[in-house]
Formats: sequence, structure tokens, C-alpha cells
Amino acid sequence: MDYYGKEMNGLIEQLASLPGIGGKTAQRLAFHIVNMPVDQVEKLSETIIRARKRVCYCKVCCTLTDQEVCPICSDESRDHSMIMVVETTRDLAAYEKTGRYEGVYHVLQGAISPMLGIGPSDIRLKELMVRLEGDVREVIIATNSSLEGETTAMYISRLVKGTGIKVSRIASGVPVGGDLEYIDEVTLLRALDGRIEL
Ligand code: ZN
Repeated sequence: MDYYGKEMNGLIEQLASLPGIGGKTAQRLAFHIVNMPVDQVEKLSETIIRARKRVCYCKVCCTLTDQEVCPICSDESRDHSMIMVVETTRDLAAYEKTGRYEGVYHVLQGAISPMLGIGPSDIRLKELMVRLEGDVREVIIATNSSLEGETTAMYISRLVKGTGIKVSRIASGVPVGGDLEYIDEVTLLRALDGRIEL
């Protein structure tokens, strides 16, 4: 790869380390970047750095936000006694797009995966348990229907049951292994409405 030189190779390598970007795409992006006006490249890199520095986890629900408490948790008109547990902020966004869910969320930032060595203490479960000490009526488990999602759902349902709070699981109908963010709104609403008490 000497024909590209050190700088170009370094850029390709960095880009290729991002998820979903293979060697070919990394090369295409690198060529695009070195041909962009310098001020545009500066704007892009500054945006990346600013987002990385400012985006944090909401101290209540652990979703990604740039405020201490995210807009959903600060919204007084929502039902704070109903908590929907999702794996990622992208899943939260999928439910928000339906515009029909009026409760709040808890974002685990992952799922339990014994195969990948991700245990209960590696996701935001402790934070959920703290919330359950407050005024909570129902916990809706909306983790993905993948093996990891089901394992996580089972684990959480056992924890929540111990508190006496109602716990339900979104209905199947969400394709197995399907990421929630790719499922259409009608399917999501059906899964929510048809949730089953555990
Ligand atoms: Zn929040």
C-alpha cells in the first residue's frame, strides 16, 4: 500500500476502524476527504469532537443526550410511573417515532451476552433498580427478540418481580433477531399494545 503514502494510509486505517466501513469504503471516503475544501474538513472534525465531548448519558434514563436530564425525563406531561426498558437510544427513537407511547424509558446501553462476556453489571441495570424504588407502576421490557435480548428480558423480569411492580414484555411479532429500529411503527405499536404480563 506504499503507493498511497503514510498520511493517506493512516486516514484509510482510521476510517476502516469504524463499524460497517470496509476497506473499499474507507478508501473512497479518504479520497473524498482529501479532495474536500479544508474549511469543510475542519467543520466535520470539529463537529465530531464537539459531539463526542458534549454527548453524555441522561442521569435518569441513561439515554444519550447533551443535557444532564434528557428532554423525555424532564417532560412533566409524560407518565413517569411507566418505564419502557430498551437496549439502545436508537430503540427509544423508534418508539418515539410512533408518537403513541406516553411513559418514560430506561436505556440499558446494551444487552446481556454470556458469549461476548457482557454480564448484568456491564449494562445500565443498577440505575434501573434505583428508579424502581420510586413511584413506578409498570415496567415494559422492550429489548430485542435476539438471544441477548431475551436473556436480558428474563433477567430483568426476575429482578422486577421481586419488587412487586407489574412487569410486561412487548408481544412477539417483532421479528426474531430483528433490531427494533428497523421495524415499522405499526408493528411496534401492535407489540406494545399486545404486551404480555410476566
Ligand atoms: Zn432521560
